[in-house]
Amino acid sequence: THNTERHEYDVVVIGAGGAGLRAAIEARQQGKRTAIVCKSLFGKAHTVMAEGGAAAAMGNVNPDDNWMVHFRDTMRGGKFLNNWRMAELHAKEAPDRVWELEAWGALFDRTKDGKISQRNFGGHEYPRLAHVGDRTGLELIRTLQQRVVALQQEDYENYGDYEAYIKVFAECTVTRLLKDGDAISGAFGYWRETGNFVLFDAPAVVLATGGIGKSYVVTSNSWEYTGDGHALALLAGANLINMEFIQFHPTGMVWPPSVRGILVTESVRGDGGVLRNSEGKRFMFDYIPEVFKDKYATTEEEGDRWYTDQANNRRPPELLPRDEVARAINAEVKAGRGSPQGGVFLDVSTRLPAEEIKKRLPSMHHQFKELADVDITAEPMQVGPTCHYIMGGVEVDADTGAAAVPGLFAAGEVSGGMHGSNRLGGNSLSDLLVFGRRAGAGAATYVDALKARPKVLPEQVDAAREEALAPLGRTGENPYEVHHELQRTMNDLVGIIRKAEEITEALGVVEKLKERVRMVGAGGSRIYNPGWHLAIDLRNMVLVSECVARAALMREESRGGHTRDDFPGMNPEWRRKLLVCSTEDGSTVKVEEKVQPPMRDDLITLFDRDELKKYLTDEEMAEFDGIAK
Ligand code: FAD
Repeated sequence: THNTERHEYDVVVIGAGGAGLRAAIEARQQGKRTAIVCKSLFGKAHTVMAEGGAAAAMGNVNPDDNWMVHFRDTMRGGKFLNNWRMAELHAKEAPDRVWELEAWGALFDRTKDGKISQRNFGGHEYPRLAHVGDRTGLELIRTLQQRVVALQQEDYENYGDYEAYIKVFAECTVTRLLKDGDAISGAFGYWRETGNFVLFDAPAVVLATGGIGKSYVVTSNSWEYTGDGHALALLAGANLINMEFIQFHPTGMVWPPSVRGILVTESVRGDGGVLRNSEGKRFMFDYIPEVFKDKYATTEEEGDRWYTDQANNRRPPELLPRDEVARAINAEVKAGRGSPQGGVFLDVSTRLPAEEIKKRLPSMHHQFKELADVDITAEPMQVGPTCHYIMGGVEVDADTGAAAVPGLFAAGEVSGGMHGSNRLGGNSLSDLLVFGRRAGAGAATYVDALKARPKVLPEQVDAAREEALAPLGRTGENPYEVHHELQRTMNDLVGIIRKAEEITEALGVVEKLKERVRMVGAGGSRIYNPGWHLAIDLRNMVLVSECVARAALMREESRGGHTRDDFPGMNPEWRRKLLVCSTEDGSTVKVEEKVQPPMRDDLITLFDRDELKKYLTDEEMAEFDGIAK
């Protein structure tokens, strides 16, 4: 293994966003020597960018809220395709995870009587998002980092070494997981700055690498989101599920071009912002789908009254789940009723006093002023759909976060199942905390039960080295060009609205891109060389894009974050099917159908029969009638 730097740990957590930090804290609290490895600077994860808040049914603003209401909303949002056990654990445990953050020093916004305040968000029946202005993710990360430091200080007192039990490896990218037989034995990566390699010898790895947005041109995601964890899991022999489901956030900035895709938080709508087309019409009233008809206001007057009196009015349709709003905006623009720069108008300036806007939405005010020279207290924003979040990810055991490969765990956006076909806003931050903790505990328990420590095999380390070095020796394809073609292809052909011919065309392009990725070359040395880093990331982006496209082609229905022009509407038969992606040769993706296990009796009976009829097959309804009696 040459002179590769080598570290031994019990648990290696890849990713330092909310999921990774919470997992690492848990593993350390259970006495495991834990490494946190992250590609970017410590503290710079996507979690930092989360604006709206963390969903938790604490019932602080509306006492009618509880885990059962939250569970129902989550299942509705995911159009009943969710892993219901995950949705159950999430709804039950989110309040404890938020309170725990507070105990660790987080400062949430308050209600008048001093409780943690909660705000409205799309798809949530009651105000439910614990928040810190529109900078919730920042506070979440700050608190978790502070907790890591507190644990390190404890370790210093006990062992004279801050890093005895928990150490951060920042700006270090993992490129391969290592295995001994079936089981995980470690991870291999490189330091971004020096290009030197690093080897982690560890029996348990927790993937917490976030999403895949960088496979699309217009995205709210930043450079780290290249689907690394998804690909690492696949290449190690684990399965990915629900990969066809991608959330296009309805409101990304559309102007100027350099900032296209940057997120405009849903809180703008939660706090009263409305969507209008070029004719000045609040068009969302024309787009309330059948399944939601009884839950949303049908007139502007009722929608407006809801902000002050939620007990007696229904919510405005601007607060429909994200997929509905994104499709509506897409349709308005296509019909020629868009804004000058190709979006629609989002207006909060005529809805709230300027001071109030600055207080509630300080980051948005700043972002538009700085990036677009738009004053949101005086004029509308122009917004349009942007690739935001992937519901699909590593198939895990709900309770422990364990993937199919022994020793491999996943939590946060890189895992799949919890959100079904579509995630509700605010359900990610709480997901990170609930399942980050569970995956950390799962990894610790796994390590405790091990009889023998799996070994790092030198030939695997050599192969990983060779693979990483390959682009440096070549003068072939330009990685930026290959990346751009992949992004355009996914955006245009496997984007928000899909059809068979286009997806097939995309798969043809992806097949060619695979070849080109093998020829990609990066000039320069190993020292801080972004072209080389991109060349390495491309393997992951192409692999993950193939999963998305293959699953999207197979699912012949429209549900949540998957809209097929040629198969409009949900098909109850498809709800029972999960699409599972795997690869044997590390390059060809196989997609297979798997039956979703039926929901536990005590959970399914939380729903009204009339509602279930919209989602379930006749056969399932007959079973339900049997239970409900
Ligand atoms: P991240 O926070 O993205 O962390 C990923 C980590 O993995 C990073 O540390 C990265 O460096 C590391 N990493 C990746 N690949 C590698 C590799 N190969 N080797 C080593 N390290 C690697 N959700 C909500 O619930 N509420 C909101 O209000 C909200 N607002 C959002 C606003 C924006 C602009 C965005 C982009 C997302 C928002 N989301 C929101 C979604 C939510 O923020 C993310 O889904 C969530 O933060 C993902 O957390 P994570 O811990 O899974 O990953």
